[in-house]
Amino acid sequence: MGAVVAKPEILALTEEELAAQITPDGHKKFRAQQVFQWLHLKQVFDVRKMTNLKADFQDYLLEKFNFPDFQILNQRQSPSDHTAKYLFAYGKRQVESVWLPYENRQSICVSVQSGCSLDCSFCATGKIAFKGNLTAGEILAQVYGMQQLYERRITNIVFMGMGEPFYNYDNVLRAADLIAHQHGLNISRRRITLSTSGVLPGIKRFVEEKQPYRLALSLHAVFPEKRAAIMDIEEKFNFLDVLEYLRAHRAELQQGQLMFEYIMIDGVNIFPDDAQELARWANLLRAKVNLIPMNTEFNGMRRPSDEKIYDFWRALVERGVVAVNRKSPAKDIDGACGMLAGRQAETTALDSP
Ligand code: SAH
Ligand code: SF4
Repeated sequence: MGAVVAKPEILALTEEELAAQITPDGHKKFRAQQVFQWLHLKQVFDVRKMTNLKADFQDYLLEKFNFPDFQILNQRQSPSDHTAKYLFAYGKRQVESVWLPYENRQSICVSVQSGCSLDCSFCATGKIAFKGNLTAGEILAQVYGMQQLYERRITNIVFMGMGEPFYNYDNVLRAADLIAHQHGLNISRRRITLSTSGVLPGIKRFVEEKQPYRLALSLHAVFPEKRAAIMDIEEKFNFLDVLEYLRAHRAELQQGQLMFEYIMIDGVNIFPDDAQELARWANLLRAKVNLIPMNTEFNGMRRPSDEKIYDFWRALVERGVVAVNRKSPAKDIDGACGMLAGRQAETTALDSP
């Protein structure tokens, strides 16, 4: 018996790759574009519903490729801000994704791993079992699965759900490229954001490849000991090396491409010297700062008072930093940053998938 070769995931192929796969079997190149549009533009995954394809070509596709295979097990909708959280299942692995509607944009937050191999002290995802990387198709399935449920088009995507994007670099970048493809959803690359806890090799590759996506660096502390106390990534990649690297390569980044994420934790990282040092780095790297009040309570860490949040924000702004106090949408459905833990019991059944 020959080795079993896994079929390619059809959702993860570019139009050109699809064409290269089907033309040796005698199929016309333009068929690849038709299939690509069904999948990526119309989010139709049932090959029998691809009405401009003949039945024998449909059979051929089913034979040759793996089609998206996922379920949306549950959803939870927020009555207060209309955000919605979805639990996607790919066999035994589950991840959560969040729909974040705003007046002028429709954002989604997607996961790149089932769980996370890191364990930041403030994050719910780090506390659950790590079940590995998602494939590019599984990442895309969240995007398209949510798009299928809504009439309004997705305009912004953040890879800020479960997992560390730069520990799944190839699949994340492939998914981003397909989402931005002009024959697909055609989402502007400036509206797609990758968030990393500071995986230096991934950051270097991202910069060297001149990737066009926005890059969010989850900083959360600007002194080595303080950062090490709350983020285990600090043992592997020192944030000062990351910042020095970004400073040396500043000219290769586009205006507005880099931003810092900074969770404000009461009594931990919002002292005047934190603000001063954070402002220094933000100015050096021309990075906008997204301030996120800690939105869960872990290990005695909690959200500061509104007054302290305001003071910290003001200390940055006074130093010329563009700092935004990000409200935490989806908080009441545990869909806010760091609250994704894939707990099925906490979600309610989805009526009509
Ligand atoms: N692993 C990547 C991306 C996913 S986490 C990263 O860490 O950047 C997405 C964002 O949620 C990060 O900025 C993370 O630090 C933030 N986050 C995690 N736990 C949080 C919490 N309890 N409150 C607010 N933000 C949190
Ligand atoms: Fe992983 Fe990011 Fe959560 Fe840290 S904050 S545990 S890196 S998902």
